[in-house]
Amino acid sequence: MLRAKGEAVKVIKPGRDQKGWAKELECTGDGNGGGGCGATLLVEEGDLFRTTNHVRDETTHFTTFKCIQCGVLTDLRGVSIPQHVRDRAAKRGSPDRSDDGAR
Ligand SMILES: [Zn+2]
Repeated sequence: MLRAKGEAVKVIKPGRDQKGWAKELECTGDGNGGGGCGATLLVEEGDLFRTTNHVRDETTHFTTFKCIQCGVLTDLRGVSIPQHVRDRAAKRGSPDRSDDGAR
């Protein structure tokens, strides 16, 4: 097999910058009373944060994003999110809910 020394992959057409995980998601207001505006948003890793819901004795954590258009929060349910993305979102905490034990 012949292979030229120092040969590297060449970029023919530059791609977009890698900013980590990103996904197109719809603003539905799911888990937050609904009322989303229905916009389709490109949600990036840094847009996610963790929210906490207390229902009776159960505490549930959701990975959530906030729509920049209408400000409604949408929980990501049934959306596969890599574990490291969830972890970072969890560290970011929940800026928009006051039910996270901080009183
Ligand atoms: Zn919206």
